[in-house]
Order: sequence, then structure tokens, then C-alpha cells
Amino acid sequence: MEARQNTSYRKIIHIDMDAFYASVEQRDNPEYRGKPIAVGGSPEGRGGVVATASYEARKFGVRSAMSSKKALQLCPYIIFVKPRFAAYKEVSQKIREIFRRHTDLIEPLSLDEAYLDVTEDKQGVGSAIDIAKQIKQAIKDELQLTASAGVSINKFVAKIASDINKPDGMTFIGPSSVESFMEKLPVEKFFGVGKVTADKMKGMGLHTGADLKKLSEDEMVKHFGKAGRFYYQITRGIDGREVQPNRETKSIGAEDTFPYDLTEIDEMYNEIDKISQTVASRLKLYNLKGRTVTLKIKYNDFRQITRNQSFAEPIGDLTTIGETAKKLLLNTQPEDARIRLLGVTLSNFGELQTRERNISDPGQLSLF
Ligand SMILES: [Mg+2]
Repeated sequence: MEARQNTSYRKIIHIDMDAFYASVEQRDNPEYRGKPIAVGGSPEGRGGVVATASYEARKFGVRSAMSSKKALQLCPYIIFVKPRFAAYKEVSQKIREIFRRHTDLIEPLSLDEAYLDVTEDKQGVGSAIDIAKQIKQAIKDELQLTASAGVSINKFVAKIASDINKPDGMTFIGPSSVESFMEKLPVEKFFGVGKVTADKMKGMGLHTGADLKKLSEDEMVKHFGKAGRFYYQITRGIDGREVQPNRETKSIGAEDTFPYDLTEIDEMYNEIDKISQTVASRLKLYNLKGRTVTLKIKYNDFRQITRNQSFAEPIGDLTTIGETAKKLLLNTQPEDARIRLLGVTLSNFGELQTRERNISDPGQLSLF
């Protein structure tokens, strides 16, 4: 990556397609080109949600996960387009074929986003910057789409870097600039930091990576739990997470079988809290948020049911997971139940932020 003699740095690229669904629609339908479009639900009836807006629509303030009604208010000439998931999936596979020319160490995060480890690239290009350029060019030439790339020595920095110069961007944060980059980074950009944690940090006078760096590892863990250890390391440029090929995580969950059947709501709530805690920390570990919370219940007669609730926006925080699971439990008449197992799962990861009911092809949702 840099002209250094003796480096053991990894070369990580994060590729993120620009306004993916909207760009595919504009490519395939010339009448949408140069126009504000929103792929997602229509604003009529119960009202849909925007999954992806074209850059022309973003100029008006239209964003993913916004209600289509609101999008229409902001941008009266916006065109609403029904998603075509099969088409997006096909394009996504072609993108992965392009990646595979350079490396097999590919970790897709969603249809339009992936990490690549090119420390040892198949063609012997050597420079991660050149590889990223070649990939972007191939995507442009062969698929008539644009992607943004972040190039760095670890996953966390590469991912943030890909977002810096969108669309069609390319940002390189080399080994010697990783630490200063992290020091300038606002705490909101650290993964696992939602609004609650960000407020807590700001209350403690911690606004940037440089502020976080002032705390010792023990203090970080004391205030922020396991995530604190990660923040401690990442502010020093250290993120040892490997690029994991074939890790197409579709759900993250935990469950527990009890030594005796639960009959009291309080006990059930306690167990849900514990299980949700495990799920939330696993989500943090994998840097994932999901849109669907599923509660699994097995009764003492081995009958098993699942109940789920989906959100317009991905969630991953303990409170939301726990409260949602409890709400789902309350709808199953738990007061008469004898429960031997409870499980909580989060799924529906990735970019898609539209409610199922607004999507034309719910059968494809499992792909996300
Ligand atoms: Mg994208």
C-alpha cells in the first residue's frame, strides 16, 4: 500500500455500490436517468418507505427509510419505483465475479457492499489502490454502475473511508495516517455507537477518537463494556478482524433451555433480558444491525412457536431487542404457559430499510 520495506499490514478494500437499487433502475430504464427516483413503497394507502433514493432525489433531502409520503412532500416530481430484487441479486453476483478476479477473500455485507482482503492478490498487482481502481473500472465498463471504495489496513477504517467521497469515490487511509484519521473521527461514526451511547460519551466530554484515546483500557471497559475494548484498540488503529469469506450472516440469535419450565412472567422477562444481552453483544461484535426481531418459544409439551416484529430501520441495541421480545411474548398468553425454551434472533441485515408490507416481493426478503 505504501512504499514501506517491511510491512505486515493487511490490504483491505471496502467496496460500496452507489445508491445501488436506484442506480440499477436508472441503468435499466433510460426514462429514469437524471431524475429523482425512489425505489421502495408507494406513498398511497398505508404508505410505503423509501429503500434507496437516486442522487437526484437525495438533493431534495430524500433518504433511505424515510416514508414515501415525506419523500413526495420534499420532492413533488419524484418517481416511485417498485423494487426488483431478482435483478439486484443478479447484478450483485456479477460484482462478486469481478472481485474474484483479484481475491477469494471476499466478505459480503449485503448485496451492494463487501470487504476484500487483497494482501495477496491473485494477479500480483500488489497495490491495493490499483486493485480498487481496477474493480471500480470493471464495474463501470461491464455493469454500467458506479461504486465507492475505501482502502486501508483494516476493515473498520476501510468501511468508513468508502463513505467519504461518494459517489464514485475512492479514499485511501494508509498505515501512517490511520491513527490521526481515527483521532478526528466523531464518536457517532464508531460502530456500536448509537444515539444512547453517543449521548453518554458526549456527557463525559468524549466527542472524537482523540477524546476516547485519553481513557485507559480499563476505563473504557468500565463505561462501555466489551465494546469499550474495541474502541480502545480501534482508536489506536488496531482492528484485527479478518475478512471472512462465506460469512453471509442471515441472522444472529441466542436461546436457552431452562432447568425447569418457566411459569411466571417475571422469570420469562429475566431470561429474555439475558438472552437479548447475548444477542446484542454478538451484533456488536459483527458490526451488524437487523430489522426483524424473532422470539422463539418452546413449551413443556414441545410445541414450538415463533413470533416476529420488523422495523423500518435496522436496530441492534439491547433495549429495543429486549422490549420487542417481551412485547411479542405478551401476545402469546404467557400467563397460562409452561415454557422450557426461549430464543431471540435478529435478522434482515443489510441496506434494505423498507417494511415488508410495502415490498412487492416478500419472498426475496430472506436474501437480505
Ligand atoms: Mg451502497
